[in-house]
Amino acid sequence: AKARGGDRRHWFDAEMDEQAQRTARLSTDLLGALDRDEFFLLFQPIVELPHGRAAGVEVLLRWRHPEHGLVSPDVFIPLAERNARIVEIGRWVLESACRQAAEWQRRFGAQAPAKISINVSARQLAEPGFVAEVEDILARTGVDRAALLLEVTETAVLEAGAPLEAVRELRERGLRVALDDFGTGQSSLSLLLTVPVDVLKVDKSFVSGAAADHAGAVIVEHLIGFTNGLRIEAVAEGVETEDQANRLHAAGYSLAQGYLFGRPATATEIESRMLPAPVA
Ligand code: C2E
Ligand code: CA
Ligand code: CA
Ligand code: CA
Repeated sequence: AKARGGDRRHWFDAEMDEQAQRTARLSTDLLGALDRDEFFLLFQPIVELPHGRAAGVEVLLRWRHPEHGLVSPDVFIPLAERNARIVEIGRWVLESACRQAAEWQRRFGAQAPAKISINVSARQLAEPGFVAEVEDILARTGVDRAALLLEVTETAVLEAGAPLEAVRELRERGLRVALDDFGTGQSSLSLLLTVPVDVLKVDKSFVSGAAADHAGAVIVEHLIGFTNGLRIEAVAEGVETEDQANRLHAAGYSLAQGYLFGRPATATEIESRMLPAPVA
């Protein structure tokens, strides 16, 4: 029995090693991924309920690894946050997204996505020069700042004091800020009283719950009343079924995002929905 236990431990350790090695390898590969041009952006529609008319898009980063293929941001963003590469990667996302948004504004005018949501990490927000850098990118790309929405997670804002200041300053300069994954952190409701935000993104765990169980539905309904009272816009995330969309609309939600309305898509795919075509 002792020998078998030993064997099992050995097998388990080997498995752990493999996992740790893969993670270490990915982390190292991340360091050069920008230079090797391995990142690209996808865009997921955010729509108005109930009709599904486009209200904007969220920019979602993708990494095409030369050997592993597409790596999920849920895997590589935490790694990039740990090895600090997120600052450069985030800058690239911001600049690329703003350039794309400016191009859409020029080519499609009123048909362009009215709002462009960009994810910003805690590490980026905590950089002393972050606000100046945003201003620089706005000036260089010529994007209309009124179209931008910067998404930060509550853990990001809670991690340090600096991000809170950055959030305030960004808003003073006419940029809009969203609190992302709302409800998944520790102190969600009290955070709303201290962090001034324009938009609340209600996490998909509650949205899928809205159709499935009573608690999810209660939370989703509670949150819309809360945001109305604070004059904050609410976006329901992860809407996958008509039933969920109907319930959200009935509860008072007017903005939603999810596979039901569109998966993350390339810029070209998004353009094909912005009709009429531009007069070239
Ligand atoms: P997020 O900001 O909450 O983005 C929404 C995620 O939910 C996206 O995953 C999206 O593809 C997925 N999603 C959208 N609709 C549905 C749905 O109906 N059902 C389900 N099950 N999922 C849906 P994705 O693209 O894999 O991104 C994962 C996370 O990685 C993002 O979560 C965000 O936290 C982070 N991320 C992505 N791009 C960036 C970026 O440029 N910068 C930073 N800092 N983080 C990013
Ligand atoms: Ca987001
Ligand atoms: Ca989210
Ligand atoms: Ca998330």
